[in-house]
Amino acid sequence: MNLRTPQPRSIFLLGTRVDNIDEFTALRMTIGFAAHRDGLPARTVCFTNVHTICEARRDRSLMHCVNLADLVLPDGSGLKIAGRIFGTPIRENLNGTDFTPKVLDAARQNGLSVYLLGAQLGRVVSCRANLLRQYPNLRIVGLHHGYFTPEDEQDVIRDINAKQPDILLVALGTPVQEKWISRNARRLNVGVCLAVGGLFDFLSGTIVRAPAWMRRAGIEWIFRFLQEPRLKWKRVLLEIPMFLALVIAKRIVPRKLRMTHDRRVALR
Ligand code: UDP
Repeated sequence: MNLRTPQPRSIFLLGTRVDNIDEFTALRMTIGFAAHRDGLPARTVCFTNVHTICEARRDRSLMHCVNLADLVLPDGSGLKIAGRIFGTPIRENLNGTDFTPKVLDAARQNGLSVYLLGAQLGRVVSCRANLLRQYPNLRIVGLHHGYFTPEDEQDVIRDINAKQPDILLVALGTPVQEKWISRNARRLNVGVCLAVGGLFDFLSGTIVRAPAWMRRAGIEWIFRFLQEPRLKWKRVLLEIPMFLALVIAKRIVPRKLRMTHDRRVALR
C-alpha cells in the first residue's frame, strides 16, 4: 500500500498531515514497507506533534516533506485536543518513543535489519547495547552519530547502503530529520526510514521518560520541559498556546469567511 497520496483517514491539522489510524495498522504498514521494497525509493514514516505543526507553518518545505511521507502518525496530547475540537477524534497516540520499540520487536521477529543514525556517538552506542539487551536477536547492522558535516554526508550514505538495512532510524531532530530523509530517500538502499527525534537519548538511558501516570495523563511534555527547560521552553510557553489558539480560531471563524481569506492568501 502506498500512502504518498493522502488516504481517506488522513486529516490535516493547520496544514500538516496526520494519518488517523490504529496502532495495529500502523505497525503492519511500517513492517510491510521494511519487508517489501519492490524497487521503490525508501519509504518514510514521520510523527506529527505540536512542534512539527508549528515548525511546518514557519517552514513550508518541512510541511511538504511530512505531507508527502508514506505514513504520518499522530504524536501527543496536543493533537488529541485539536482532533476533538475539529470533530475528528484522533484514534491513538502513536508517538515515536512508544511506537518504534514495537517496530523493533516486530523486526526482531521477522529477521529485519536495522541501522541507527543520529544523536551523539556515546548515546547511539549505548542505545545499540541496550536494544541488544532488550531484543537479543535484533539485527542492528550499523550505526552513525548525527553530528556529521554536509561533506561527510556521502560517506554516511555509503555506509548505510553497504549495510542495506530494512529499517533506518533517523534521530536528527525536527525539521532536519524529515528533510534529510526526503532529500535522500531515492539514494538510500533501505526499506523504510523512521524520523524518531530524541529516541536514542531515551533508549540510551541518558534522558529518563516521565512516569507512566504522567504519560497516561498526556502530560509527559511537562516532565520533558522540567528536564531540559533551556531546550524546551519555546515549545511549552510559545508553541502550545499558539497551536491551541490557532485551532480554536480556525474552529470558530465561520468556514465561509475562512475560505474567502484562504483564497485571498492563495491569490497573493
Ligand atoms: N541531533 C543530531 N544531530 C544534530 C542535531 C541534533 O543527531 O545536528 C540529535 C540530538 O542529539 C537528539 C535529537 O537529534 O538526540 C533531537 O532530539 P529532540 O528531542 O530535540 O527531537 P525533536 O523533538 O526535535 O524531533
